Amino acid sequence: MEQSEASQDAAIRQATQLLLSSRYVMAMTGAGISVESGIPPFRGPGGLWTKYGEPPMNGYQRFLEDPKRAWEERLSPTGPSQILKETIVAAQPNPGHLALVDLEQMGLLRCLITQNVDNLHRRAGSQNLAEIHGNTTLIRCIQCNARFSGDEVALDILPPPCPQCGGILKVDTVAFGEPIPPDVLQKCQEESARCDCMIVVGTSATVYPAALFPMQVHERGGTLIEVNLYESELTSMCHVSLRGPSGELLPQLVKMVREW
Ligand SMILES: [Zn+2]
Repeated sequence: MEQSEASQDAAIRQATQLLLSSRYVMAMTGAGISVESGIPPFRGPGGLWTKYGEPPMNGYQRFLEDPKRAWEERLSPTGPSQILKETIVAAQPNPGHLALVDLEQMGLLRCLITQNVDNLHRRAGSQNLAEIHGNTTLIRCIQCNARFSGDEVALDILPPPCPQCGGILKVDTVAFGEPIPPDVLQKCQEESARCDCMIVVGTSATVYPAALFPMQVHERGGTLIEVNLYESELTSMCHVSLRGPSGELLPQLVKMVREW
């Protein structure tokens, strides 16, 4: 549902007032902001899983049963994994990612939770970032949770051992059936507990536990600002809904905050 220009302008004005009158603003992003950088979503129309089928729901169990095979598949991906890898390598942060960096640098945005694994928020320059589903460019030890960049880890033995503790290394992306890494989950919980205004961008907020954070902010009396092409499960809880691409709306929001 498109908003008229006048109602969109009023919504951006209202969102600006909310941001400027809140104590601890956070944002949470989902697939929608990555789609605007050319990365296909997993679910919904045009989604990789819609086209190729859902990956096995016991992905983590399969990793644990045969980590060597999982690593071999990662190093020579096929089908949807290959498409995802190639599009992520080619993708660039879009104006929506950059607007969130602007808000952080202005001191307004305190923390960003993302459900995306594509590294685009880091590449854009976001600092206080919680990647709740991991980051596909990083490698994580499933024993001590230390994270490494791809070039820090030798791959002559598969699975590669953790340089710090000798544990098994795995891609940081959280697999189906894998617990959210405790350090990230704790950060999300601590930050959300302080938050009184959350900007929810490009997510239908149906994947748990990520969906809980905006709901908790709402339940504690905080405000939610939705930036999404479509209505979502969260829309009825939001004080302001901005309908349209985040790459257009977030820069407009930054501009109005600057000029306020
Ligand atoms: Zn380790």
